[in-house]
Amino acid sequence: MDEIRVRIAPSPSGNLHIGTARTALFNYLFAKKNGGKYVLRIEDTDAERTSQAYIDNIFDSLKALGLNWDEGPDVGGAYGPYTQSERFDIYPKYVQELLDKGFAYECFCTPEELEAEKEEATKNKQAYVYSKKCENLTEEQKAKLRAEGRKPAIRFSVDKARKAFHDSPIVHFEDLVKGDLHQDTSLIGDFVIMKSNGSPTYNFAVVIDDMLMKISHIIRGEDHISNTFKQILIYEALGAKVPKFGHLGMILAPDRSKLSKRHGATAVSEFVEKGYLTEALLNFVALLGWAPSDGVEIKTLDEIAQDFRINEVSSSNSIFEYDKLNWMNGQYIKKMDIKELTQKAKPFLSQYDLTELSEEKLEKVIAATREPITILSDLAHDVAYFFGKDVVYDEEVKEKYVDTPQSQDILKYFDSQLDSYNFDDEEKLHEQLADFRTYFKEKFGIKPKETMWTVRAALTGRTRGADMGVILEVLGKDKVKYRIEKAIK
Ligand code: GLU
Repeated sequence: MDEIRVRIAPSPSGNLHIGTARTALFNYLFAKKNGGKYVLRIEDTDAERTSQAYIDNIFDSLKALGLNWDEGPDVGGAYGPYTQSERFDIYPKYVQELLDKGFAYECFCTPEELEAEKEEATKNKQAYVYSKKCENLTEEQKAKLRAEGRKPAIRFSVDKARKAFHDSPIVHFEDLVKGDLHQDTSLIGDFVIMKSNGSPTYNFAVVIDDMLMKISHIIRGEDHISNTFKQILIYEALGAKVPKFGHLGMILAPDRSKLSKRHGATAVSEFVEKGYLTEALLNFVALLGWAPSDGVEIKTLDEIAQDFRINEVSSSNSIFEYDKLNWMNGQYIKKMDIKELTQKAKPFLSQYDLTELSEEKLEKVIAATREPITILSDLAHDVAYFFGKDVVYDEEVKEKYVDTPQSQDILKYFDSQLDSYNFDDEEKLHEQLADFRTYFKEKFGIKPKETMWTVRAALTGRTRGADMGVILEVLGKDKVKYRIEKAIK
């Protein structure tokens, strides 16, 4: 059997879209599962829509997701992607081959002439296909058009290619995901494979590249199904082996429209900027069309790769449930190694002077506040009282839990005890806090949780938050004393 080789071929006309990330993931999984190779190719033939910033974003996002590609041009010890714009000298040879075989022809039509054809079709309520006006031009006619300064584009002769390899205009292929797919190729007009400026079009470059890169399986979105029929005809016309195709359902927003910016983030980097972990994102997108055989949804990339089978991928569309992603991200935040999580959290805490806390204390803060966070950006609010000298009070909290006579008594007594507290030992602090609560309960019948609300409110300005032992330890004696004394009138 031939080697399994797959690819992800993004067009850099935007940041890496979450849908492309899913396509990349499924290709990656298919390669891993089958001991194959996974290749990255940047499809930048459309120079006007391409930008280096998008290429870098695609690169960085794939790496951040852990979807590292297996080969490409060496860029100083690492693999670069294949980039179509650097391969422009490869394509003309194959255009020539198609011209020589009679499966392609020069087209001298100007954009205005083509526009007029289209308008005519619209007027007659017909689907537009190119008129083939240039298919049978004589050498003399061509020379005349050239002399006028016209430069030809090259069109693929759909009918001629089809007739050479198929008895019927209805062409079929067996899709790995969707089963039998077919199309009436007489509805496909002769399409341009090379523009008059010499740049290849997508449908042509993609075939040449997939052929030369020996891609055995093409897994991509179902929006490419109509292209697949064109591409199959080109493979056949070149005498090349037609790869296997698998088309994935689309990813839709919860309202079942196309997922777009108005629904929320769509690019991987946007999700990361909002505080999603790439591990959670990857796990979440795997479930858009694929289901684990044991029903356990939270899985590592390796575990998913073991369980993945392309023929079990759903052929229908998937709904991108932001709520589910939030839940899943929360699960990852809860379980992630605390050192790693702390590093990932830092960019979201830039409003604070992180040097106020040692690395160890910062880890304690994150560990004590990571639940019930769903996205890292929520941490900024939840850790606020660990920073700065003063605490910002919610007015209601102050009135209710700090300023009442009972609270003032509690705070005064707490203040008087602080010198005996062991601020370096969280466990000891818990014991001391317990004694303190018991004292108020036994002496004045005040409920332990009320006592704690008062201390918590005085120290943090809030009635809920991290564990009190952690708060005392991280703030340290000086800050605790300062805040308590400030709360005492
Ligand atoms: N460059 C195409 C795109 O971004 C993908 C082409 C393909 O997978 O064949 O949609």
